[in-house]
Amino acid sequence: MARPPEAALVNRAAELYDFASRYLPGGVCASARANAAIGHPFYVSRGDGALLYDLDGRPYVDMCTSHGASLLGHNHPGIKAAVQSALDAGILCANETEHAARLASRICELVPCAEMVRFGGSGTETVMHGVRLARTATGRNRLIKFEGHFHGYADALNFSVMPPLDQAGPAHAPRAYPESAGMPARAGDDVIVVPFNDPIALEAAFASHGHEVAALLMEPVNYDQGCIEPLPGFAALCRQLCDRHGALLFFDEVLTACRMGVGGAQAYLGVTPDLCVLGKAFGGGMPISALAGSRRVMRHLKPLGHSQMSGTYLAHPTAIAAALAALDAYSAPGYYERLDVVCRHFYAGFQRCIERSGVVLRLQFLGPRFGLYFGVREPVTHYRQAAVKDHAAERVFIRACFERGVFFQPSAHHGFSSAHTVGHMDQVLLAIEGALADLRREQGEP
Ligand code: PLP
Repeated sequence: MARPPEAALVNRAAELYDFASRYLPGGVCASARANAAIGHPFYVSRGDGALLYDLDGRPYVDMCTSHGASLLGHNHPGIKAAVQSALDAGILCANETEHAARLASRICELVPCAEMVRFGGSGTETVMHGVRLARTATGRNRLIKFEGHFHGYADALNFSVMPPLDQAGPAHAPRAYPESAGMPARAGDDVIVVPFNDPIALEAAFASHGHEVAALLMEPVNYDQGCIEPLPGFAALCRQLCDRHGALLFFDEVLTACRMGVGGAQAYLGVTPDLCVLGKAFGGGMPISALAGSRRVMRHLKPLGHSQMSGTYLAHPTAIAAALAALDAYSAPGYYERLDVVCRHFYAGFQRCIERSGVVLRLQFLGPRFGLYFGVREPVTHYRQAAVKDHAAERVFIRACFERGVFFQPSAHHGFSSAHTVGHMDQVLLAIEGALADLRREQGEP
């Protein structure tokens, strides 16, 4: 396709940014869509497979994939057909259907901890309900969470995701740093923050507070800091400490669900939590999440028990249909093997680009999602190592890739979909090679 001149592209986006900013705070519908690297949000006209199209129809290989929700790529025919069939059934809302029960039973077959399920919309809302359920089931209030792990924006949980290091407290006993203004001043009193992958700090937190802890809430793989896996034995230690102290192990699988296998991170790690939330990829791009767990815990949800989780839009048939179709796609023979071929090709190529460029950049990945740590050489195993990465270099890189037709959202984690072919990834690698050369020049090297 003939590309319009750069100036025209900038003008269309700049004009829309100007217009949108009059009505949408910051010109965006979600604060994470602001884009400091390209100077305005990426305004998209449509998506198809691995590609997003800007306002002028110019294609970009999408390396954000809806923050991980579009693992099947955009415009997936199976998801579209499923949503259409739900629309044809009458745009039902707030009714029970056979499809929701079928989806719940499918999750119970595929996800190790799942014996019962309730569906929600966003991850934020469902993790919030999961915490309420954990408190109901245990009769306790406090939570342990890891520094750098993200669990949505609810007041009870929005702590110590990206705390400025000078306000984060001691490394081995971080303070609960509120990530937003307007959170109740005492909300953090019930949150105990522990550094990830630090068995001594975790044991100390349980030793001091174990008897009052309702749940240890964690990202089983900390993609929200790029890609940080639990060190060998750490996830099993989390399980043991919860058992020893009568707390629930609660995996926030909003990002990890279906990512490295259809059973999510719990199947990958071989550690079964009491409770989990599935989100993003689970819905194939439609807004749905699932709270799943043992019958012993889930029976505390109303109307069986006393923990409230309800809402007009819960289990909306369009989203249920999409999730059923998505699970079918992920369960198809060879799905993850094919994804793995693209992963291996891309990560090996990316590593070669880094080495050739001389840029200091650490790449960490698991499945089709990865983190980039500019200026970091050593393995990143917890938040504070990730926090020192060079954000300015990252912005230069993202902008240079964008100019070459590859979209990375400035975000801790990036990734691709099963619609991305080796051919798309070669295009991405070419852009990365050019972007790293630009960065090297900007850093004052020849
Ligand atoms: N939990 C994790 C691990 C996430 O990565 C996210 C979103 O990025 C959330 C919760 C919040 O989910 P949502 O954006 O659907 O509200």
